[in-house]
Amino acid sequence: THFGYKTVKKDDKEKLVGNVFSSVASNYDVMNDAMSLGIHRLWKSHFISRLDAGMRPGSSRPLDFLDVAGGTGDIAFGLLDHAKTKYNDTQSTMTIADINPDMLREGEKRYQQTQWNDGSDRVKFLVQNGETMDKIEDNSKDVYTIAFGIRNFTNIQAGLNTAYRVLRPGGIFACLEFSQVDNPVLDYVYQAYSFSLLPLMGQLIANDRESYQYLVESIQKFPKQEEFKGMIEKAGFYVPEKGYENLTFGVASIHIGVKL
Ligand code: SAM
Repeated sequence: THFGYKTVKKDDKEKLVGNVFSSVASNYDVMNDAMSLGIHRLWKSHFISRLDAGMRPGSSRPLDFLDVAGGTGDIAFGLLDHAKTKYNDTQSTMTIADINPDMLREGEKRYQQTQWNDGSDRVKFLVQNGETMDKIEDNSKDVYTIAFGIRNFTNIQAGLNTAYRVLRPGGIFACLEFSQVDNPVLDYVYQAYSFSLLPLMGQLIANDRESYQYLVESIQKFPKQEEFKGMIEKAGFYVPEKGYENLTFGVASIHIGVKL
């Protein structure tokens, strides 16, 4: 890069990802707020309302949600809130899967504080690698969400193929992820911010420069919108219309795929 940051070797990636998320699990919100200047909250709520998922009145069965790389449960609890508030859906199930037990534990802690902790067993936490998900059956889910998770996968295409495998026909894949800024001038400013300010913020806020540096690099390396759309199609999904929506000039984007 023009900002001279040394890259991480591929073989080290899985171990590094584990360390990063174990070390940030408890101050995870602080990290997200710092990285995105608080905007990730707006992106997440937009993602959830855009999906507009929930069991419609008169429909014959509840939905099965799967939130992968679900970490602290932001997206999962948000989806359940939306389904209940908008569709009075109190039956659909939610599985929160994450490769990192520390992140899941943090999610479970938060779960205790939510209205979903009602003894109904609708919400499950599973330690799973999103690339394989060997505990999730084929054709068993209706909605697959992943927010700020897939760029951490060692093999992104394997993750997408697995998403396709676990969804039922008619099921929806929805991904919210950091992406490519669509304007060169803004991109220059954004890159400068990412490569100089963010690791410094990481050091000051969390005393953890390395983790933040990894995060910046993982964003930089993630495929651009068009390329990622192609990978979703390659997994077998039908991608509607333009296929993605840029948020904040492409700092993040939403990709949708349908298993026909
Ligand atoms: N979805 C949450 C959110 O938006 O707040 C958490 C996002 S967090 C930045 C990324 C998460 O991806 C971490 O919890 C990490 O453990 C998880 N992760 C990384 N690689 C994974 C993999 N191969 N399979 C499943 N989860 C993974």
